[in-house]
Amino acid sequence: MSVIVYLENWEGKFKKNTFEAAQYAAKTAAMMGTEAIGVTFGDLQDDASQLGKYGLSKVVNLKGGDFTEFNNYKLAAALKDVAAQNGGDTYIVSGTFNGKAVAPVLAVMTEAGLITNVTELPSSVAPLSVKRSVFSSKGFVSYSTDAANKIVVFIPNAVGVEEGEGSAEVIEGSVSIGDVPQTSVTETDRVKGKIPLPEAERVVSGGRGMKGPENWGMLEELADLLDAGTACSKPVSDMGWRPHTEHVGQTGIAINPDLYIAVGISGAIQHLAGVSNSKVIVVINSDAEAPFFKAADYGVVGDAFDVIPKLTAAVKKFKA
Ligand SMILES: Cc1cc2nc3c(=O)[nH]c(=O)nc-3n(C[C@H](O)[C@H](O)[C@H](O)COP(=O)(O)OP(=O)(O)OC[C@H]3O[C@@H](n4cnc5c(N)ncnc54)[C@H](O)[C@@H]3O)c2cc1C
Repeated sequence: MSVIVYLENWEGKFKKNTFEAAQYAAKTAAMMGTEAIGVTFGDLQDDASQLGKYGLSKVVNLKGGDFTEFNNYKLAAALKDVAAQNGGDTYIVSGTFNGKAVAPVLAVMTEAGLITNVTELPSSVAPLSVKRSVFSSKGFVSYSTDAANKIVVFIPNAVGVEEGEGSAEVIEGSVSIGDVPQTSVTETDRVKGKIPLPEAERVVSGGRGMKGPENWGMLEELADLLDAGTACSKPVSDMGWRPHTEHVGQTGIAINPDLYIAVGISGAIQHLAGVSNSKVIVVINSDAEAPFFKAADYGVVGDAFDVIPKLTAAVKKFKA
């Protein structure tokens, strides 16, 4: 029995998601009285031994032609084989775009109990019990599985990460992946010079209340000061005021930042579906009856064009 964790890297570099997955796996393994083994793919630029700071004692790096391009079937087959080599029966995956593509395939290959949208560390490991969000994060349910193989997919940034001490042993592994379907990346549209929304710890978001694209400069300035990503409601991207990559909600990206500042957004249920996992929500809206205030931790009733410059000035003063 051991815990296998998919350690995603982006062009050889690890991000906070990777560390969070490593720590989730290490803590789960500790509860089970076993070890967690990380698996990462392709040539690395970062030193994988640093994953020891998040509790891993061993990282298997798989290289070669099979792993130069993203293919969820090959990755799943490789994870399964690493598990077979190490007696692994529990898999931890961060719910990133790639993680969400790998986990269901892995579940079919290993006939595993798959639990997605997990928001906390397991409450018990025999049977494995975890809390997950349901109905677009309007509720939570505790799930248990006593399946022989188990896969936990947690929502990125839901459990957080703390750096500790330690160094992991990094070994170059080899696996047999067999004959699997071929999937390939046909096009990559890279958002340059911005904090990608799925990994942003802070997000400044604008809605139709911003009146027009020409007014986004003030939100971008505030976002820059806060090291935040920028997001928007669906109508804003539908009207072409902002790119679709910024659209959050039920039909857009689901995000989970530490801080979400919503400016001139009414708080429709479809918008909340993508942002209500945010740890702190600040709503700025001129209408005191706007539904978003019910979901807010802090609310400012006021005109965005009045409030945002004052907030920006206050942040500048604070930072100075
Ligand atoms: C199937 C389906 C899926 C959908 N998916 C999504 C989704 O993924 N994401 C999403 O966002 N929406 C989604 N929607 C649309 C959603 O229902 C709402 O229509 C949308 O979120 C409203 O966007 P908004 O809040 O920007 O605009 P509005 O509803 O027009 O709200 C504008 C807000 O700005 C405030 N305001 C106006 N002027 C100012 C000012 N000067 N200062 C401060 N506040 C001001 C107003 O009081 C108002 O609350 C979906 C709808 C459907 C039917």
